[in-house]
Amino acid sequence: MSDPTIFERIIDGDIPGHVVHKTEAVAAFLDANPLTPGHTLVVPREPYTRLRDVPPDVSADIFGAVRTLSPAIEDAVDADATTVGINDGTVAGQEVPHLHVHIVPRFEGDGGGSIHTAVGSFADLDDDEIADIASDIETRLG
Ligand code: AMP
Repeated sequence: MSDPTIFERIIDGDIPGHVVHKTEAVAAFLDANPLTPGHTLVVPREPYTRLRDVPPDVSADIFGAVRTLSPAIEDAVDADATTVGINDGTVAGQEVPHLHVHIVPRFEGDGGGSIHTAVGSFADLDDDEIADIASDIETRLG
C-alpha cells in the first residue's frame, strides 16, 4: 500500500489541520497557506489524483460539500464572493496529487482575478475549429 497523502494524514489527525467538515466520502479543511481568510480545500477521503479518477457518486458528494460549505465560509469571514476551482493535473498547477477543490473567499479590492486569468491569453480558434472540438467531446461522451 502506498504512503498516505498529506491530506489523508490531516483527515486522520496524524498532522495538524483545521478540519471543518467530514462525511463518509468527503472532508474539508482550511488551506495552510490561505490566499484569503477562509480558503478551504474539499477532498475525497480516498486519495484519487485527478477528477477523472473519482467515481460519480463521490464526485456528487464533493460538489454537494462545496455547495454546503461555500456560503458558510463566505458568511464566516464576511466575504463578498467566492472563487471555486480545481488545479486538475500538474500542468494546471496541481501540487498535491490528491484531488482537492479550492474554495477561496473573495473580497472587494483583494487584487485577484477571475478564472479567466488562470491562462494568460485567449485561444485563437475559428468557428469550424470550435465546432470540431464540440463534436469530439460529444463523441467521447457516447
Ligand atoms: P494545488 O496547487 O492545487 O495542489 O494546491 C495544494 C494546496 O494544498 C495549496 O494551496 C497548499 O497551501 C495546500 N496545502 C499543502 N499542505 C497543506 C497542509 N499541510 N495543510 C493544509 N493545506 C495544505
